[in-house]
Amino acid sequence: SGTLHVVATPIGNLGDLSPRALETLRTVDAICAEDTRHTRQLLSHFGLERPLLALHQHNEDAQAAQLVTRLQGGESLALVSDAGTPLVSDPGFRLVGAARAAGVRVSPVPGACAAIAALSVAGVASDRFVFEGFLPAKAGARRERLSRLAAEPRTLIFYESAHRIEESLADLAAVFGNERHAVLARELTKLFETVLDDTLAGLRQTVAADPNQRRGEFVLVVEGAGDDADASLAEGRRLYAKLAGHLP
Ligand code: SAM
Repeated sequence: SGTLHVVATPIGNLGDLSPRALETLRTVDAICAEDTRHTRQLLSHFGLERPLLALHQHNEDAQAAQLVTRLQGGESLALVSDAGTPLVSDPGFRLVGAARAAGVRVSPVPGACAAIAALSVAGVASDRFVFEGFLPAKAGARRERLSRLAAEPRTLIFYESAHRIEESLADLAAVFGNERHAVLARELTKLFETVLDDTLAGLRQTVAADPNQRRGEFVLVVEGAGDDADASLAEGRRLYAKLAGHLP
């Protein structure tokens, strides 16, 4: 049977599409895309033209069986999402699961992922972390989710959109405490890339004060809950690092 190639695409900078991703997208029989118009633009930028099939959250179950049949018939397919790595807060796990269950080879073409890109520049403990994706949209459910996470010792990674970044930061500060250290990564790899390093209260203030800081796409990396000794040690280190730049 054919292979299902799971291909990461850029999260903002087209230069991040890897040579192997290009080669894969050029040679597969068809490309399953979250939004075919979006992916057609990406392909045409690179001078590629391949048949596109829509695979989004509303048709994934129905499509998966058909796609697996095509794979079993020997076709090779690529799976992409609008940005970054498919399946990471994006459609695809049902198709991949179905392909795997049918004994079809599934192979990754790794590349950009906003969560990992943010973690790689956050400077927060990265040996153990949990990816929480998007918080619930409704305030009650969001606070409930956060209160379950308040004592989590591992670093936490959240995705957030411009519409909700203020509310989410407010709830995070309220539930995790104003002083919890966090890094807000905005528009990574794009023109207005900004990485803010502060307490939750500080981030909340910065974002409230400057409309530009509310634009675009966000990853929030939040330090895990430490015991008090750890917290004051971390605070001390942070202060020292800030001061060190100003010392002779
Ligand atoms: N599959 C993607 C990945 O691998 O990162 C994530 C898709 S998810 C639907 C979109 C969210 O990812 C955005 O709301 C934002 O939280 C985050 N994101 C995507 N691109 C980003 C960027 N350039 N900078 C910061 N966050 C980004």
